[in-house]
Amino acid sequence: MKALVKARAERGIWMEDIQKPEIGHNDVLIRVRRTAICGTDIHIFQWDDWARKTIPVPIAVGHEFCGEVVEFGSEVVGFEAGDRVSAEGHITCGVCRNCRAGRRHLCMNTSGVGVNRAGAFAEYIAVPAFNVFKLSDAITDDMAAVLDPLGNATHTALSFDLVGEDVLITGAGPIGIMAVAIARYAGARHVVITDINDYRLELASKLGATRALNVTRDSLDDAMRELGMTEGFDIGMEMSGNPLAFTDLLRTMHHGGKVALLGIPPEKTAIDWNQVIFKGLVLKGIYGREMFETWYKMSSMLQSGLSIEPIITHRYAADDYQEAFELMESGQSGKIILDWTT
Ligand code: NAD
Ligand code: ZN
Repeated sequence: MKALVKARAERGIWMEDIQKPEIGHNDVLIRVRRTAICGTDIHIFQWDDWARKTIPVPIAVGHEFCGEVVEFGSEVVGFEAGDRVSAEGHITCGVCRNCRAGRRHLCMNTSGVGVNRAGAFAEYIAVPAFNVFKLSDAITDDMAAVLDPLGNATHTALSFDLVGEDVLITGAGPIGIMAVAIARYAGARHVVITDINDYRLELASKLGATRALNVTRDSLDDAMRELGMTEGFDIGMEMSGNPLAFTDLLRTMHHGGKVALLGIPPEKTAIDWNQVIFKGLVLKGIYGREMFETWYKMSSMLQSGLSIEPIITHRYAADDYQEAFELMESGQSGKIILDWTT
């Protein structure tokens, strides 16, 4: 079958012919219809330090996808051939304390599809049935391909009560932009987002941001004054991984504010702990999606008025992956879909 493979320890990614995956007795074989390119895939494409340390070469990559069930192992129940599905890309061990307690997102033995094991940028992928999520007809294939990052946004945004609150999101990457839409949907008052990329800030405005600020030009303090926010933000979501953005976020939080951290900062990033201590801030780290509460929440929200359609800005046939990866790398896009059915 065709698959996008990180075949060599250097910049790039290559379409290759590899063996179709075999399924174990608890696995489901899925024919992939659509995939989406993640920031992680760009790190792998660029072959940066993180990728060098993490990715075993050669490996088929990709983890944002949807498709249809074509085959399943002898122990699998609840699936039929033809079911439209997506899947949670974090494969958990099932036997550690957190897994056994139903806190699968806190499993310490997590293995990632397209990172530690064969990925979804392929005609077929095999995953444990436990990880497979059946799709409502109301969710289109394109939308289903971005449930993984929408799940990151959902997990982060729904960590704290947003009703009537003023929210700051630092980083208007695809996940930050989707978090804007969720915060609005969930009843926040002002949702302010920052970035240094005008293309993405414009998208964030389309998805409902009260203010989308380019921090190279615009002042966060001015925006807060204009919005009548004299006391600071109630809820913060760090979605850039940029230490300066995080510093600004902590500085503008209200006393007693709550902050969810999704962005991955450089190792050993320092912060002003006095902001945390004297303001009594609550900080929460976010990894992946809650299994499977996040999946049910986002699926239900998409069926009851949450609209994130504009986040998908480009669509390519899988064979045109090179152009798609370069566009994603440029930052001049939202989510980019690769179609594996053409
Ligand atoms: P992304 O890299 O596309 O978005 C990050 C954005 O931050 C970019 O648009 C960038 O221009 C912006 N940025 C850079 N400097 C900034 C500054 N000073 N102020 C404000 N914004 C600034 O990433 P994404 O896919 O949207 O993911 C967001 C973050 O979450 C990334 O750091 C990613 O690594 C991380 N992530 C974490 C998890 C997790 O499970 N914790 C999962 C997925 C992604
Ligand atoms: Zn576990």
